[in-house]
Amino acid sequence: MTEIVRSHIGGTLVESDGSFIDKHYPATGEVIAKVEIANDVMLDEAVAKASEAQREWAKTSVQERGQILIRAAHALREANAELSRLEVMDVGKVYSEAASADVPSGPDALEFFGAAIMTYTGVQHQWPGAVGYSRRVPIGVCAGIGAWNYPAQIALWKSAPALAMGNAFILKPSEMTPLVSMRIVAIMEEAGLPKGLMNIINGDYRIGSAICQHPGIAKVSLTGGVDTGKLIMKQSADSLKRVTLELGGKAPLIICDDADLNKAADIAMSANFYTAGEVCSNATRVFVHRSVADELIAMMVDRTSRLKVGDPMADDVDIGAVISEKHLQKITGMIAKGIDEGASLAVGGNRVHPQGFEGGYFIEPTILTSCQDDMTVVRDEIFGPVMSVLIFDDDDEAIRRANATHYGLGAGLITRDLARAHRMGDQLEAGNVWINTYNIIPPDLPFGGVKQSGFGRESSLFAFEAYSDVKATYIAIDE
Ligand code: NDP
Repeated sequence: MTEIVRSHIGGTLVESDGSFIDKHYPATGEVIAKVEIANDVMLDEAVAKASEAQREWAKTSVQERGQILIRAAHALREANAELSRLEVMDVGKVYSEAASADVPSGPDALEFFGAAIMTYTGVQHQWPGAVGYSRRVPIGVCAGIGAWNYPAQIALWKSAPALAMGNAFILKPSEMTPLVSMRIVAIMEEAGLPKGLMNIINGDYRIGSAICQHPGIAKVSLTGGVDTGKLIMKQSADSLKRVTLELGGKAPLIICDDADLNKAADIAMSANFYTAGEVCSNATRVFVHRSVADELIAMMVDRTSRLKVGDPMADDVDIGAVISEKHLQKITGMIAKGIDEGASLAVGGNRVHPQGFEGGYFIEPTILTSCQDDMTVVRDEIFGPVMSVLIFDDDDEAIRRANATHYGLGAGLITRDLARAHRMGDQLEAGNVWINTYNIIPPDLPFGGVKQSGFGRESSLFAFEAYSDVKATYIAIDE
């Protein structure tokens, strides 16, 4: 029987009007669930329940809030295998990635923010005849609208700082990945999170738009595409909502002539093929110094040709499915366009139909060489397992070309020269720069973009700023 996914409001599953969206398992193409689209009355109810719960939650001590969130983190860790399977059913990514990194990064955030709020203090002021203090206070009901690539992480990276700060939260997952976040909320409530503090409203962009316009919601945080980010800002303008945007990217990875090539090949491949390339910060423009290019490309082509694509649950599979048939068509269309515009297909490029998973959305990891900066594959986000290799001759040229994009989420650099690493790292226009590694985001490191990759930060103490106001108190003491 196909599962019905409803909305989770005030601790209960709430039925809507009976309009559904099919949820497909990307590895088989089969419909495995039907997502019931929430209506505006349900959103009003979620906001009312969240407001009521938030008023009580904000009165609790930071110790109590922190301890509840840390307990929830432990419960989620215990359920890691179950949640990782749901993440795979949602996204089609390989289980080993879900279970080792993507899903655990959610409880890591809850634990970090639960602990951090216990030590988070304000600023004290002093003047002749007066004293004062400024502190961060909750803003009320916050909302998160999620992309489909990291549903567990998105649910918790957004809600953890919001809840720790004393807010309530309403999440709208992508209509394509509703499963794992529903279970996450249930587990958090079982672990003691008061009902109404964490709600899920399911549906597509229409309910997302209603969230942006709702006067009872103080803040919205989006993870999604640049065009969606612009719409979110417009839709949120009338209610003057605070907005943070985690948007797309077309990150550069610069591999210098002194790089350890063995390491560089591994980093470049993981920065392109992890989660079948469906990662916003992926380094899809790989700039390689001319003197090492032939050797490095040969190493990457050899290793890429040995990657296994198929059943995401199988231990020996490296690359799972992409999210949908439509997305697969977009990726293959982009590869064809790249070749049309003059790129060479060094490896991959084909759709595959693994045995037993013939209806799934699988594509070989792909490397395009002889790329030029003005090609569509080099300029536009593909969000699939497609690496574009570009050749450079000197550091200044590499930096100039790496920065020639309206995106600015991530950037990477591989060199053994410490001074060069600092100098070039400083010049890269990106919210996150990784040197001799890529895509590592511990919970205490801020993550987010500059330029059109968005604004605001997730992870780290900086994330509290997105979910709080500053309140200043001035006290006259000279009677
Ligand atoms: P979309 O921008 O299409 O959608 C993101 C979310 O926004 C979905 O839940 C979607 O709903 C919702 N939405 C769409 N239109 C509106 C609207 N008008 N009002 C309110 N909500 C709306 O992104 P994808 O889901 O396709 O994800 C891929 C994109 O996300 C890529 O560009 C990627 O780079 C970016 N991304 C950024 C990350 C970051 O941290 N910077 C991380 C991961 C992804 P629905 O789809 O259900 O209709």
